[in-house]
Amino acid sequence: MFETMLFSRRNFAMAAVVVVSLNVLAAQDLEVLQLRPNFYMIAGAGGNIGFQVGVDGVVVVDTGSAASADAVVLAIKKVTPQPIRYIINTSADSDHVGGNAIVAKAGQTIFTGNGGAGLATNFLGGGASILSVEQVLTRMSGPSGKPSPFPVDAWPTETFNQPRKYMYLNGEGIEIFHQPAAHTDGDAIVFFRRSDVVVAGDVFDTRRFPAIDVAKGGSIQGEIAALQKLVDTAIPSVPIVSREEGTLIVPGHGRICDQLDVVDYRDMVTIIRDRVRDLMKQGLPLEQIKAASPARGYTRRYGSDSGSRSTIDFVEAIYHSMSEKAQ
Ligand SMILES: [Zn+2]
Repeated sequence: MFETMLFSRRNFAMAAVVVVSLNVLAAQDLEVLQLRPNFYMIAGAGGNIGFQVGVDGVVVVDTGSAASADAVVLAIKKVTPQPIRYIINTSADSDHVGGNAIVAKAGQTIFTGNGGAGLATNFLGGGASILSVEQVLTRMSGPSGKPSPFPVDAWPTETFNQPRKYMYLNGEGIEIFHQPAAHTDGDAIVFFRRSDVVVAGDVFDTRRFPAIDVAKGGSIQGEIAALQKLVDTAIPSVPIVSREEGTLIVPGHGRICDQLDVVDYRDMVTIIRDRVRDLMKQGLPLEQIKAASPARGYTRRYGSDSGSRSTIDFVEAIYHSMSEKAQ
C-alpha cells in the first residue's frame, strides 16, 4: 500500500487522510500526495518532487528525471489550472533536474503580463524561472569548451550564492538554504514556512546511506551539517506527541518524514563517521577500515552491496572527505 511505503508509522493517521486523494490524482505510474491544503508531493519520477499551489501559480521543487517530465507536467495540471511559475532545484543530479526543460516550458514566467515586472513577453522564452544555487548552473553547463551535460533550456535562469535566499509567493515565505559541502557543493534545502514542509533533496534519503560526492564538493562534515539544518528547521509534535502533527520533510528519495526521522538518520550518519574517524586515528589504511565494517548495524536498512551508492561508497566518501580535511 502507498501509505506503508511513503509514510512512517508516526504519520499513519495523516496518511489515511491523504490516500483518499490518491485515486483521483494518480497520473501514470506517479504517486501524487496532498501533504497540505496547498502543497503536494510527486513520487516515482526520479527524485521526489514537491509543489506549492496558489494564486501566484505553481512553485515546483525539483523536476525528476527527463523520462518522467511529461507525466510530471500532467500530474501538476491535474491538481491546478494555475501556470507553473518557478522551479527550484535542490542539486544538479539528473534525477532532480532532468525534467527542468519540459516543466519550465509548460509554465509561464511570472515577470511579464498583468501584475508582472513589465518585462518583454519573451523573457526566458516565456517559460517558468529555474532557480538554484550557483554551483548547479556550473555543473549543468559544464566546463567551457566541452559539450554541456544538459541542454541550455534546462539550466537555471536565476542563481544565488548567499547561504539563504527567500521569496514570498502564494501567501507564504519560501526559504532556500544553500548547503555548501554536503551531498555535493550545490545542495539546497527548501522550506515552505506556512505549509510547514521542507524539501530536503539528496542530503536525506530514507532508503539508503547518503550519497556524498567528494569529487563534486561533497563532504561528511557538510552532510551532517545539512542534516542538522533539517533538524533545526523542523518542529516535531510536542508536547502532545500523539497528534501526528509537526513539520513534514520530503527527502530526496523515500517516504515522507518528520523531525524525529531526521534525528535518527543524522545520528546514524554521525555514528558511522565517528567509527571511521577512530579507525583513521589508529592509522588504519582505507582497505582495513572498509574491512572493519564501520556501517555495521545499519547496512540491512540503508546498505547496498552494489550500484553507485553502495555501503562501500559511503565509507570511502567519509574517509576521503576526512583525509582531505586533514591535509
Ligand atoms: Zn536523487
